[in-house]
Amino acid sequence: MLIANRPLLSASAQGLEPRHAEDNNSLSTAVLSRKPTRPITLRRIQEASEPSSTPRTTRQLEIFMDEDLEELSRLIDTADRVVLFTGAGISTESGIPDFRSPGGIWTKMAPIDFRDFMRSDEARRETWRRRFAMEDMFREAAPNRGHRACAELVRSGKATSVITQNIDGLHQDSGIPDSKVIELHGNTTYAHCLECGQRYEIPALRVDFERDNILPHCACGGWVKTATISFGQSMPVNEMRRAEQETLLADLFIVMGSSLVVYPAAGFPELAKRNGASLVIVNREPTPLDRAADLVLHRSIGETMGAMVGVE
Ligand code: NAD
Repeated sequence: MLIANRPLLSASAQGLEPRHAEDNNSLSTAVLSRKPTRPITLRRIQEASEPSSTPRTTRQLEIFMDEDLEELSRLIDTADRVVLFTGAGISTESGIPDFRSPGGIWTKMAPIDFRDFMRSDEARRETWRRRFAMEDMFREAAPNRGHRACAELVRSGKATSVITQNIDGLHQDSGIPDSKVIELHGNTTYAHCLECGQRYEIPALRVDFERDNILPHCACGGWVKTATISFGQSMPVNEMRRAEQETLLADLFIVMGSSLVVYPAAGFPELAKRNGASLVIVNREPTPLDRAADLVLHRSIGETMGAMVGVE
């Protein structure tokens, strides 16, 4: 049930740039300082890990897992408008590493800020070097069971949209129409001119860069960059507006594979919860929003959502 359609993000988020939770956590604080709803799964996990004189059997633990799935199934069945919110974790099962899992990209290299990209040839060169080094991986990646489960939820009409922080295009590859995928951080499978918007394809830019040492640039004189949103770059206004509208209409909001520390993206599950939607988080590791969620599953996405929706 929706409580109110307050445009909580629009004033603050449009034109904002991605940042970490610690940079500005006002939305997070606002939600988490409210009395949290009963965190069903968290409570069960705590109970299960409490010291006990009778050790729990594997069978008992399986029952705990099944209860989690039953609860998720009940929430999906009773919802009218589900919104799916995904992060890098949904694509790890397709072979694309995330940022913050142990061994994730950030444990190896810091991101390059947009302002540095605009300022320095060396930063542009390093940005493209990294991107071309990942090209084979992005080109060969295919949707996995988690993507297929999302696609099935959209196809059946249960889910109205996927709000994604991902830049790999795998939701579209799984069959979800472009119109139902909201890419908050853009798309890395192509590039565009930052001045005139002209589209460029990655393989052609790669040949010029690697063979002739040519830094991607446009005929108009502008710099060419992957169509992604970097730290320090403005968020896309249309996508932010659509994501806010979808979030405010949702009665169930399911987060999959996000550490929920990159803002303003992580403000959407907070907004959904504040607006009266049920909030589910499926993520291998804990997130700052776990205690505000109605159901938390620290499990892998493909197996969990695949079993839930009945797709392989
Ligand atoms: P993150 O790396 O901060 O967090 C990913 C989370 O997913 C982690 O908490 C991890 O425990 C969990 N996870 C990983 N594999 C999982 C699995 N199979 N099942 C369940 N949980 C799993 O990701 P984020 O919150 O999306 O933020 C990272 C930023 O980096 C985003 O803005 C995104 O644009 C970008 N990014 C995108 C890709 C991609 O498009 N595939 C990859 C890396 C980074």
